[in-house]
Amino acid sequence: MATVVARYAAAAVTDCGRKRPSNEDAFGYSVEHGFYVVCDGMGGAAAGEVASSLAVDEWMRVLTGRDAAHALRDEAALAVTAANTAIFQRACHSRNLSGMGTTLVALVAENGHGWMVNVGDSRGYRMRAGRLEQITLDHSLVEEQVRMGRMTRQQAEHSPFKNVITRALGTQNVVTPDFFELETEPGDFYLLCSDGLTRELANTQIEAILQLALPLEALCARLVEAANKAGGHDNITCLLVRAEA
Ligand code: CA
Repeated sequence: MATVVARYAAAAVTDCGRKRPSNEDAFGYSVEHGFYVVCDGMGGAAAGEVASSLAVDEWMRVLTGRDAAHALRDEAALAVTAANTAIFQRACHSRNLSGMGTTLVALVAENGHGWMVNVGDSRGYRMRAGRLEQITLDHSLVEEQVRMGRMTRQQAEHSPFKNVITRALGTQNVVTPDFFELETEPGDFYLLCSDGLTRELANTQIEAILQLALPLEALCARLVEAANKAGGHDNITCLLVRAEA
C-alpha cells in the first residue's frame, strides 16, 4: 500500500530586508484548515501594506468559513475574488490608497491533493526528493517575453522592466489567477515566497538550503538570511509547508 499524506506542518518568516523602510509583504496560514498564502503589496505610502494584509485577511476569512461540500479549487477561486474585490473597493474609496495592489501565491491542501494559485510574481515551488521545482509562472512582463521567446533569460535579468508585473490583485475589478493541481507525497515540501527571495537567490541556491536537515522554521530563517546576505534589496517572505505520513 502506498503511504499517504496524513498531516501537514508549516512555518513562515517575513523580513523587511536591508534597503526598504517598511515591510509590505504579508502571509497567513492554517494547518488545521489546509490553506497558506503569501502576498507582496505595492502602492504609495502605506498602501502596499494595506493591500497585502487585506488580501491575506480575505483569503483566510473565506477559506475558514468554507463549505466542505464545495470543491477546494472553487473555494480558492472564491477567496481570490473576495480578496480582489476588498482591495479594489477600498482603493476606490480612499485617495491615498488609490492604485494599490498585491501579488498572491497560495496553497490549499487536503490529504494528498491540492492546488496552488498565483497572481503576480510571488512564487510557489515544490521540493521533492531533494529537487526543487517551480510550480507557478510569474505574471511579469519579462517572464512573459522569455516564455514567448522574445527575450533571453539573461536579458530578462538585466531588463529595466523586470519589476513590471502583468497581473495583480486589487488593481482592477476582475482578476484571473492561475491554478496548478498538485498530487502530494509524504516528505514533499512547498515553498511560497515573495520576489525579495527569488531576486536574490537562484533556484539552485534555494534548493541547496532546502536540502539541509533542519526544522521548517530554521529553513525559513536560512532562506531569509541568504537573501539578506545577497543584498536584501526588497522585503523577503518564505512560507514552508511539509507533507507528512
Ligand atoms: Ca517585493
